[in-house]
Amino acid sequence: MKINDKYLIKDIKEELPVLKEALEEAQLSGTGLTIEKYEKALADFFGSDKALAQSSGSAALHTALFCLDVKPGDEVLIPAIAPIPTILPLLTVGALPVVVDIEKNGLGFDPKDLKKKISSKTKAAILVPLWGYPIDYTQTLAVLDDAGIPLIEDTAQAHGSKLGEKYMGTFGKVGCFSTHDRKLLSTGEGGFILTNDKGLYDKMKQFSQLGYMDGKTYGVNHKLSALQAALGTHRIKQIPTQLDKRKAFVKLIEDRIKNTEIKSFPIVEEGSSNYYSLVLILPWDKSKNYKFIQNLDERGIPSDILKYGFCPIYKRPMFTDLASDCTNTEWLIDHMTSIPIHPGLTEKEVIYMAESIVEVYKNLK
Ligand SMILES: *Cc1c(COP(=O)(O)O)cnc(C)c1O
Repeated sequence: MKINDKYLIKDIKEELPVLKEALEEAQLSGTGLTIEKYEKALADFFGSDKALAQSSGSAALHTALFCLDVKPGDEVLIPAIAPIPTILPLLTVGALPVVVDIEKNGLGFDPKDLKKKISSKTKAAILVPLWGYPIDYTQTLAVLDDAGIPLIEDTAQAHGSKLGEKYMGTFGKVGCFSTHDRKLLSTGEGGFILTNDKGLYDKMKQFSQLGYMDGKTYGVNHKLSALQAALGTHRIKQIPTQLDKRKAFVKLIEDRIKNTEIKSFPIVEEGSSNYYSLVLILPWDKSKNYKFIQNLDERGIPSDILKYGFCPIYKRPMFTDLASDCTNTEWLIDHMTSIPIHPGLTEKEVIYMAESIVEVYKNLK
């Protein structure tokens, strides 16, 4: 069996009328009524004052960084577990990424390392609820607020994940989402930013629209096209059923692996994950864990660890000069794997994955 790690919606009958309506609106650029409707629907769904559509998640991060006045030479804190798309927009604004270790059993900053890495040049901090696992920001926000440092959430993988009653992406100054085809809300390519700061929203909107070409204000074109927005507005309604289905699939797997030493990655108290992927913690050392991942891959079950050569950001050739002592990050990457969980899977495929996990575990044990 070959498991697809990407959920491709093929709901053409439902979606054609939505696209037709946008075509009839005859405003296909990123400034028309269709965009306004999408932004309103996003703000309503996530419980944010404002939403700003963007052409990608990378564009969203770029817009946020630029409009938070992150200038060349300014430092921006990022977790060592951050993937490549989180860090590249920092280079676009000329910022210096400063790597912070993650906490034990979570994807937030390690509190001790965070305090060590803040300097007079720190201009912003980014956290990433990877694989949809929520972060408890309470402690971090207290420290950052004290130092006057805004938090950017890179919530590209966390649509619908929550802490308490609040969605990931609504805790920081801004939440930057991607709507790339693999993400929980897909418009093919695309992204958006959530914020409650009206002044910042106005600035980000102007920046994304060529500074309104007023000849005084710098800007770029990060607008989303109206056809994508129309699709997005329709697909927001599918998020709750997606979340339910993913949760049910995770339960099928968790029930079947509970007599092994393989554990689900813990979810922070009062948190709920959207299960962009299911993260499993493996019981052995790095090389044996890697064998487990390879064995699953041979059975057609892909892992982000293999697919993206997942490693701490400072082990990528471009970023070796950011090396830092990040034992929690290294431990997690050496002991985890990700399992595809999405509504495009059948129950049969999910049970096949669960049984494969148990079999490979027994073979290696
Ligand atoms: C997908 C992703 C991005 C980039 O989004 P694009 O829309 O592909 O530009 C950024 N950060 C994370 C964590 C992602 O998963």
